[in-house]
Amino acid sequence: AEQTYDVVIIGAGGAGFSAAIEAKKAGANVVLLEKMPTVGGNTLISGGEMNAPNNWVQQNLGITDDTADLFYEDTLKGGDNLGSPEMVRILADNALASAEWLRDEIKVEFLPDHLFQFGGHSRKRALIPVGHTGAELITKLKAKTDEEKITIKTNMKAESLITDDQGRVTGVTATTGSGDKITFHANKGVIIASGGFGSNVEMRKKYNPELDEKYMSTDTPGTTGDGIIMAEALGAKLTNMESIQTYPVCNPETGVISLVADSRFDGAILINQEGERFVEELERRDVISKAILAQTGGYTYQFWNQKIADIGKTIEVHQDEYDMLVKQGLLHKADTIEEAADFFKVDEDTLKATIQKVNEYAKTGDDLDFHHRGGLVSLETGPYYIQKAVPSVHHTMGGLVIDEKTRVINEKGEIIPGLYAAGEVTGVIHGSNRLGGNAIADIFTFGRIAGQQVVSEN
Ligand code: ADP
Repeated sequence: AEQTYDVVIIGAGGAGFSAAIEAKKAGANVVLLEKMPTVGGNTLISGGEMNAPNNWVQQNLGITDDTADLFYEDTLKGGDNLGSPEMVRILADNALASAEWLRDEIKVEFLPDHLFQFGGHSRKRALIPVGHTGAELITKLKAKTDEEKITIKTNMKAESLITDDQGRVTGVTATTGSGDKITFHANKGVIIASGGFGSNVEMRKKYNPELDEKYMSTDTPGTTGDGIIMAEALGAKLTNMESIQTYPVCNPETGVISLVADSRFDGAILINQEGERFVEELERRDVISKAILAQTGGYTYQFWNQKIADIGKTIEVHQDEYDMLVKQGLLHKADTIEEAADFFKVDEDTLKATIQKVNEYAKTGDDLDFHHRGGLVSLETGPYYIQKAVPSVHHTMGGLVIDEKTRVINEKGEIIPGLYAAGEVTGVIHGSNRLGGNAIADIFTFGRIAGQQVVSEN
């Protein structure tokens, strides 16, 4: 079967949705192809937090000294300067507008009075959607595409890109869930928004043998690098492919990211089996992950008290995950430090000494051991929470090279006509290490540009 649209978009995550909405707004007839039975991708299962410098919540909280320049510097430095400065500049200059677009056009609700300061950021600047997950983002994006009558085809796996004899991309071949082949012709162009390759162990090993089967993944099963492989077949240039990020605190049984453990951003500490802290809890994800793997057993315990729990309310907003962790014996609520230590057989005296130091540092505002950049919180009063966690593959920084208009670039440095890409499938923003809250900022900023560009240029 054959179908014709102006714009064909591969992947219904945050990048694909925002591209679809912008392309439709610019007047194009759009189809969004999603290989899974449901839309949302990793965007849906993420925490959904989004960095935007100088945002309205910062103003509510009296944070008045954040700028696009600071965000730019944090992001480049966070990726060891391996991201493209021109592209990071675009991200930094447009992240706030992307957040405002989500708020005003898509009707995403963000918490008015709470922000996260993820590792590597010099300011608290990550907006938090209500519910603290990407569900708020995807639900509202889906409602918008319904309202705009944008065609979404689930169970529709893009297999390859079609080109004409000039090398211009003119469509996509796809297969349905029942194995039927469909050709989607694209009058204006194709946008690849198929996400990363964190769930593809073979591909991970090809680019970085260290990230083999011993790691589970936080990603959806659809995150297999399809868009990278399809574009590579047309000579697309790849970059930063060896940079694969692990998220430090995930479920040791399933690999799923722990959002209950977002209490870390409100002051929870990380300890090892011996009961000692071993890393600054707001360090970069790669640094914390490596530090955890170097501890006894290659795991950590996250430890916090009710006072910290009450700040972000991560237990209430992620009640299902909490109940599951308790049932799995991976999280325990204890009235006393002794009880918490005993549950996981952590050395009690060492843990007590560690906590005593934390309480001191909380008072003086000076963490002499690890220089906690958020300032430690006193753990004097219970009840306490202790949770076992391991690092798990979370984000693939590498991918397609795009230019500032999201056009896909080939090995010779030329534009592949008719082909655009945005989101985790691209490799030019995050360098060796993506900072927390930067994926959401990236996918919406460049997803929107791709949707606008494919229409205005063709
Ligand atoms: P991003 O954050 O870049 O938007 P996501 O992981 O949120 O990425 O979304 C990517 C989406 O693309 C996922 O829903 C995934 O299932 C989908 N996808 C991946 N490969 C294909 C493919 N070959 N055909 C159609 N959809 C795909």
